[in-house]
Amino acid sequence: MCAQVQQQLSPLNAAFLAAGQEAGFPLTEDVNGFQQHGVSRFEMSVNKGIRNSVSFGYLHSQKENQNLTIWTGCQVLTITMEGTRATGFEVKYQGKVINVFGSREAILSCGGFGSAQLLMLSGIECKVNLPGVGSMRPTSCGSVSLRSANINDPLCIDPNYMATSEDWRVMRESMRLGLEVAKQPASKKYQHHEHTPGVHIRHGAAMDDFIREDAASAYHPCGTCKMGSGDDAINTQRQY
Ligand SMILES: Cc1cc2nc3c(=O)[nH]c(=O)nc-3n(C[C@H](O)[C@H](O)[C@H](O)COP(=O)(O)OP(=O)(O)OC[C@H]3O[C@@H](n4cnc5c(N)ncnc54)[C@H](O)[C@@H]3O)c2cc1C
Repeated sequence: MCAQVQQQLSPLNAAFLAAGQEAGFPLTEDVNGFQQHGVSRFEMSVNKGIRNSVSFGYLHSQKENQNLTIWTGCQVLTITMEGTRATGFEVKYQGKVINVFGSREAILSCGGFGSAQLLMLSGIECKVNLPGVGSMRPTSCGSVSLRSANINDPLCIDPNYMATSEDWRVMRESMRLGLEVAKQPASKKYQHHEHTPGVHIRHGAAMDDFIREDAASAYHPCGTCKMGSGDDAINTQRQY
């Protein structure tokens, strides 16, 4: 799976990086690495100008691999269990229900919601707030539950955004920092007037209302399925 930093900056992107430094933030080459603090070019899942995806990065790019058989258009219905051990999957493929068994191991990677749904449909309890689950920064914790035993029924998903005072503190501070960067000289030369949040919105209830109405998630649901045991289990699993 290829990731690379943004290669060609638009004038606005470049102005943002310059304004961030004018506001006192260092330029960092790797916000996911040695220096997370600062302004940076964004890292994207892109390979030679083409957007990369997990399925291409790990599966469809490996068609020549003799160890790999790819079935597309199939739906995993349940995880096959022997006691507490997962041995394979019951799969609907070309109209038939087939049992697929792993000789060594079975890996479930149906995403943050699909994996949780399959675990629950297979009788494996999904709890929220387990130690070792959920590594993202917000402190609010949502929940995922089954609507029914039918896999085709959508899940009940409650993201429970902004449920803690810490998340409100961070979001207000983020707004303050964003406005600070926006008023720097490098940024100002591109400004005609402030549309969002609007000059009359700077703090208090007006700012909170703006956050409530305009804040958006970055689509990274995580922490629904714990891997292994122990407090940092998700970090100590064998890497593939
Ligand atoms: C709009 C959007 C924008 C995003 N932008 C970025 C970005 O710019 N950079 C970034 O790093 N991340 C981004 N993400 C997050 C990124 O997409 C996810 O972190 C990543 O896709 C997770 O990969 P995954 O393999 O765990 O799950 P997924 O990519 O969700 O793959 C899970 C797959 O399992 C399949 N599945 C589920 N249930 C079953 C079943 N029962 N049987 C068979 N198949 C099943 C699903 O159809 C899906 O194909 C974005 C997400 C969204 C929604």
